[in-house]
Amino acid sequence: MSNETVRAIGQEQVPYFRTQEFSELMLENEQMVKRLAHAKNDARAVFLTASGTGGMEAAIMNTLTSKDKALVVNGGSFGQRFADLCAIHEIPFTQIKPEMGCDITKEMLIPFDNQGYTAFVVNLHETSTGVLYNIDLISEFCQRNHLFLIVDAISAFLADSFNMGECNADVMITGSQKALACPPGISLLVLSKRAQERVNANKTKCMYLDLKEALLNGERGQTPFTPAVGILRQIHQRLTEIIADGGAEAEIARISALAADFRERIKKLPFELLSQSPSNAVTSIHPTTASAYDIFTILKDEYNIWVCPNGGEMKDKVFRVGHIGALTKSDNTVLVDALNDLKKRNII
Ligand SMILES: *Cc1c(COP(=O)(O)O)cnc(C)c1O
Repeated sequence: MSNETVRAIGQEQVPYFRTQEFSELMLENEQMVKRLAHAKNDARAVFLTASGTGGMEAAIMNTLTSKDKALVVNGGSFGQRFADLCAIHEIPFTQIKPEMGCDITKEMLIPFDNQGYTAFVVNLHETSTGVLYNIDLISEFCQRNHLFLIVDAISAFLADSFNMGECNADVMITGSQKALACPPGISLLVLSKRAQERVNANKTKCMYLDLKEALLNGERGQTPFTPAVGILRQIHQRLTEIIADGGAEAEIARISALAADFRERIKKLPFELLSQSPSNAVTSIHPTTASAYDIFTILKDEYNIWVCPNGGEMKDKVFRVGHIGALTKSDNTVLVDALNDLKKRNII
C-alpha cells in the first residue's frame, strides 16, 4: 500500500527522461538505495524495469557461469524459483532444503564446507512461508568458504535488518512493490565490487537484462532502455521520506512493531503461525479449523479486507497478512475485529 505523497506522483504526467533532471534523480536513487542497504562505497545500484523475478534472473545470469558451483536454499516457492533459474541458465547447483517454515541451521551447512562451491543463493525472507533465514550464519559460512553471495531481499529490504556491507553480500535484489510500497514494475540490484567484476567478465546471452549496459548507463544516471519513469519518481519520493524519517532502522522498527501487535492480538484465535523465525514483513497463518482460502474469500467478499492467499499445495493451509507499506495499528484492529467476528460466526 502506497502513502499519499507517493500515490500523488502516480497521478502526474510522466516526463521525458533523457534529461539532466531525471539523471540527477536516478543518481540520488542509487545513493539512497546504497545507503539504506548499508552497501560499501564501491558498490553500485542498478534499476531494471521488471518485476522482482527479473532482478533474480539478471543476478543469476550476469554473475554466475557454468564454471560456478552454487548452493541454493530452497525452502519454498521463491527458493524453487532460484533453482529453476540456475537450471535454465545452466549453472551447476545443489539445493539445501529446509523443512517448510524452518530456518537453516549450522548442521545443515557443515556438509558443504570445502566442497568446491563458489556461490550461495538465498531468499533472505522466503515470503511463501514467512521464514527469515539467519543471514549471519550464511554470511559466516560464505566467508569461510569464499563464496559469492546472492541475496534476494525483495520482501526483506526495509522490513528486516540487512547490512549488505557487514555480511559481505555481493548482490542484493529488491523490488518496488514490497516494503518500498510503490507500484510494481521496478527491480533494484545492489552489486558489490566483486559482483561488478563478474558482470563485466560475463558473456550474457540476453540484451534486455545485460547488467553491463545497466552499469555503464547508470554512471550518468541513465538506463539503456526506457524505464518505468513514473515508478522511479515514486521510489525517489519514498526513499527520501524513509531517510528523513530515520532511515532503514526506523522503518524496520515501525514494521516490526506492527507485526508484533498483530501477532499478539491473534493469539486466542485457532491459528498456528507457520514460521519458526518469522520475518517482520508478513505473518503466515495456518488456520486449524477452516480452509485458509475460504477465510481469504470471506474477508474479501464480506469485509472488504484483502489478505494474501497462498497458492499450490498451501492454498487451503496458509494465508498471509502483510505488515509492510502504509499500514497502521488501526488497520490491525480492523482485521482482528473481522477475524474475531468469523470466530463468533463459527466460520473459524
Ligand atoms: C515478491 C518476491 C519476489 C518477486 O516476485 P515478482 O512477482 O517477480 O515481483 C521474489 N522473491 C521474493 C522473496 C519475493 O517476496
